[in-house]
Amino acid sequence: MPKMQKPKCPNCETSDFVVLISTGEKMGTFAGTGIGAASAVAGAAKGAAIGSFAFPGVGTAIGATAGALMGAIAGVTAGGYAGKKLGQQIDESRKLFRCNKCSNEFPG
Ligand SMILES: [Zn+2]
Repeated sequence: MPKMQKPKCPNCETSDFVVLISTGEKMGTFAGTGIGAASAVAGAAKGAAIGSFAFPGVGTAIGATAGALMGAIAGVTAGGYAGKKLGQQIDESRKLFRCNKCSNEFPG
C-alpha cells in the first residue's frame, strides 16, 4: 500500500508533526480480538464434542483443551488482524489528522 500523503497543519503550515488519527485501527484490533476470543469458546465446545466422540471420557478434556487452543490462536490472530485492517480502512476513509505540535485536529 502506498504511504498516504500527509496534509499540512493549517496552524503550523508543516506536515512534520501531522499524524493520521488511528482510533479506528485501535478499536478494530480490540473488537476483532474480542470476536476471535468468542470463537475460541466455540472451538473449545467443538473440540470437546470431537474429543468425547473419538475417546469417550478422557477425550472430552483433551479435545476441549486442544479445541480451545486452536480456536484461540486462530480466532484471536485472525480476528485481531481483520479488525485492525478494517479499522485502518475506516481511518483512511475518514482522513482525520492531528498535529502533535499544536494539538489541532483537522480533516485531510
Ligand atoms: Zn499544528
